[in-house]
Amino acid sequence: MPPDVVAAPDADGTWLPQARRVPSPNHGPRPPGATIDLLVVHSISLPPGVYGGAAIEQLFTNTLDWDAHPYFAQIRGLAVSSHFLIRRDGELVQFVACERRAWHAGRSHWRGRDNCNDFSIGVELEGLEGDTFEPAQYLALADLCRTLRLRFATLQAVAGHEHVAPGRKRDPGPGFDWARLITLTGWPASAFASTAAAQLGAPPGTGDGYPDKPEDIDRRPR
Ligand SMILES: [Zn+2]
Repeated sequence: MPPDVVAAPDADGTWLPQARRVPSPNHGPRPPGATIDLLVVHSISLPPGVYGGAAIEQLFTNTLDWDAHPYFAQIRGLAVSSHFLIRRDGELVQFVACERRAWHAGRSHWRGRDNCNDFSIGVELEGLEGDTFEPAQYLALADLCRTLRLRFATLQAVAGHEHVAPGRKRDPGPGFDWARLITLTGWPASAFASTAAAQLGAPPGTGDGYPDKPEDIDRRPR
C-alpha cells in the first residue's frame, strides 16, 4: 500500500491500518525522552527454513506449543517480539504499537548507544540467513520505511540485526539485498548501516528463532 496516509496513533499507540494486527504481550515502555530513530531489519523462520506456518506469530504472542516440533525445545520459554513481520508474500503483520518498546534486538549497539530496543522499530522478514528474500517483501519493507518516516520524522537510519549485534547475530544475512532496499526507499545510502553483511565472528544459525544466551535476551518488565 502506498504510504499516502499518515497513520494516527490511537489510544494504544500507532498501529498501521495496512497491517494485520496480532497484539503481543512482549513489550514495555521506552525510556523517557527516547526518540524513534532506527529501524532494525531481522529475519526469522520457525522451524528454521520452514515458511508459511503459524509458529512465528505464536512465538511472539507466547502461544507457541514448545512440544509441537523438536526444534522448539531449543527456544522453550523465549519471550520476544518485534513491531512488524513481513511474510514471504509481502503481508504486513504488526505485534506491538510503534511507541512501545518491543523485544527484538537484545544486547545491541548503534552509533554510540546501547540497547537498540530503546530507540528502534523492529521489522522481521520471514526468511533464513543465507536465503534470499521475495520481491514482495522488499516492496512491503520499503513502503513500511516510508510510512513510518511520515509518522516518525526522527526515523533516519536502517540497520540489520547483524550490524547492531555483530559477532552475535547474522540476520537478515548475506541473502538480503541492501542496495535494492536503498533504491526502493529512495533514501540516501548514508541512512543505512552497510550494504554488506556483517557476520564477523558470529557462528552460523544465530539469527532470530535461534536460542540466545541468557544475558543477551531482553526481558525487561512491562
Ligand atoms: Zn534479529
